[in-house]
Amino acid sequence: MSKVERPELADEPESVLFAGPGEMRARCRAFDWASTPLGAVARWPQSLRTAVSLVLASGFPSVLHVGPEATFVYNDAWAELLDSAHRDALGHSSLETFAESRGAFEPYLRRALAGETVEPSEVTFPIAREDGSGGAVGTRWFTVSYAPLRDERGLVSGVVVTAVETTAARRATAALIEGETRLRLAVDVAELGTWEWDLVTGRGQIDQRGARIVGLAPGPLDDVMRAQLECIHPDDVGPLQARIAACIERGGAFDLEYRVIYPDRSVHHVASQARVLTDSAGTPVKLVGTNRDITTERVASAEREQLLTASEMERAAADLARRRLETVLEHLPVGVTLAEAPSGRLLVSNSAVRRIWGLDTPAARVADYNTLYVGFRPGTERQYANDEWPLARALTHGEIVTDEVIDIVRPDGTRRRLSISAAPVRDARGGTLGGVVLSIDVTERERLLAETEAARGAAEAARAEAEAASRAKSEFLAVMSHELRTPLNAIGGYAELMEMGIRGPVTVQQQEDLARIQTSQRHLLGLINEVLNYTKLETGMVRYAMSDVRARDAVAEAEGLIVPQARARGLGLAIVPCADTILVRADPEKLRQVLVNLLSNAVKFTDAGGRVEVLCESRDDVVRIHVSDTGIGIPPDRCEAIFEPFVQVRSDLTRTAEGTGLGLAISRDLARGMGGELTVESTLASGSTFTLTLARGGAG
Ligand code: ADP
Repeated sequence: MSKVERPELADEPESVLFAGPGEMRARCRAFDWASTPLGAVARWPQSLRTAVSLVLASGFPSVLHVGPEATFVYNDAWAELLDSAHRDALGHSSLETFAESRGAFEPYLRRALAGETVEPSEVTFPIAREDGSGGAVGTRWFTVSYAPLRDERGLVSGVVVTAVETTAARRATAALIEGETRLRLAVDVAELGTWEWDLVTGRGQIDQRGARIVGLAPGPLDDVMRAQLECIHPDDVGPLQARIAACIERGGAFDLEYRVIYPDRSVHHVASQARVLTDSAGTPVKLVGTNRDITTERVASAEREQLLTASEMERAAADLARRRLETVLEHLPVGVTLAEAPSGRLLVSNSAVRRIWGLDTPAARVADYNTLYVGFRPGTERQYANDEWPLARALTHGEIVTDEVIDIVRPDGTRRRLSISAAPVRDARGGTLGGVVLSIDVTERERLLAETEAARGAAEAARAEAEAASRAKSEFLAVMSHELRTPLNAIGGYAELMEMGIRGPVTVQQQEDLARIQTSQRHLLGLINEVLNYTKLETGMVRYAMSDVRARDAVAEAEGLIVPQARARGLGLAIVPCADTILVRADPEKLRQVLVNLLSNAVKFTDAGGRVEVLCESRDDVVRIHVSDTGIGIPPDRCEAIFEPFVQVRSDLTRTAEGTGLGLAISRDLARGMGGELTVESTLASGSTFTLTLARGGAG
């Protein structure tokens, strides 16, 4: 062919075909195509030239695989996809250059070469690292189509490959899927149920968990809200409906809590959040929301509340108890200290401690509490050894110390005597936590005790002395009386002999004198006998021969002895005979002696014309014999004294009436000696009643 015939081929064909911007056009221009199976550009058929031109001009990554060796021609967009290892793929066999991935694209290539337009399929390309290491930093997605390139004869001479990148769409889809998965997961983790309610149709949907939470069956619902409301606690329905209605009206969202009642009647707490969706005109069309079972949280918080209230109350009670204890401690007159074991450091001490130990003076410092560890054995200057100190014994040996008296010297130098009690305080397992010490100031108590003791000793000594003196007196009297009786009897005896004329004739004058001597002798003898009697009683020498004595007989005997005396004084005697049955426990001799004494006193102290009475009375297990008179009586303040020996109310009277003042003393001693008593009731100038009380006889 001549140049003239084919001018377009001879004229630098590359510059025409590869003219234009871009790296690949430039490389194509510079490339030695003659060395490739395609041969010099000038010889390329028109179909190839058109295809190459289209590929280079395409904005999409495009490639041509030409001829049986699949010679590779590609544009700038494709060049960007090639890693550094394949940058020089231009004009080489793609099957060889991409030998490692050939398996992935060759089948498509073959199908296209066979004339088929292969449906677009998705392929990935690694995103190469900038450093040229060949490593990938990510993936790009492309939808690739393989189309046959036909030559002028209609034969397939190559394959045109066009790629459309889908990475962004891919990523968006992946992100969407990921987002949805996350959302599901969040809903799952939060244990949320979901529901929606079409406000226009009234129909809706609730998922499985959402339905379970409100005690419904899952699935489509004609009226989700109505169905939900049916399960709700009657007290919560009204407020809930009102708030939902307000929210639909106003738009926006709501966040509600309510209770639902399950078919098994159990009550659950539910939290529901929802949002109103509106159409473009702003009309509410949908309500979408979640619900969550918050029963456990509510129950737990209610319990926590309860526990808090309970612990609050406990704390208040404990506070009150502590304040009361402190008040009690502060007002106790006893010093109370609580010490720590084993240090002995004081944890608590009340004001009494400071007062008792003399630590409330301005001079006393806290350190002075150490004086609590100082104490002296009472009455000595010997200080306690560490181990002997009561608190130490309680703390270290667990000993209980009770009322141990110690002496202390206060910081101001005064000495006090204290009573110390101490006991260990143990924990639940028996270990020693500390010790309690009680201190009481017993200085005054001890002083009073000592004084009382001394006084008692003195009284004891005085009494012993008096008893000894009294005994000596009684013994003296006994001896004296006995010594006097013998010569007195002799006087009486000799006077009688003389009176009888045995010693010779006696004149009338002498007879009268002898009678006076005898009267005086009898009187003196009587006195001496009484003294002797009394001293016998006093010295405890009297023996009682107790028996059941008929009261009537004893009274009659005494009466017999007193009648002459009463007559002589012109008195009336009124003896009411005792009942026959009345027996008394008595020594008959001594009973008569008492009665004679009482009767003779009555006669002696009653003036002429008066009366003397005897009356017997038996009540319960005692017998009372009353001897009454209408005589001179006894002043009230002397009624007890007359029972003392030698006591007489009026000595002038007595002298005329004669007497020793011993009769009543002897009588009371005798009455008591027989287990009875002798008492008097008297009115001055009108009379006296003496009452002898004895145990009733005949019993047992
Ligand atoms: P005495 O009769 O020997 O003086 P008593 O011991 O029998 O001693 O009596 C003591 C005193 O009690 C009497 O001196 C008298 O003052 C008073 N007394 C006793 N009996 C009566 C009485 N019946 N009426 C008035 N005074 C009485």
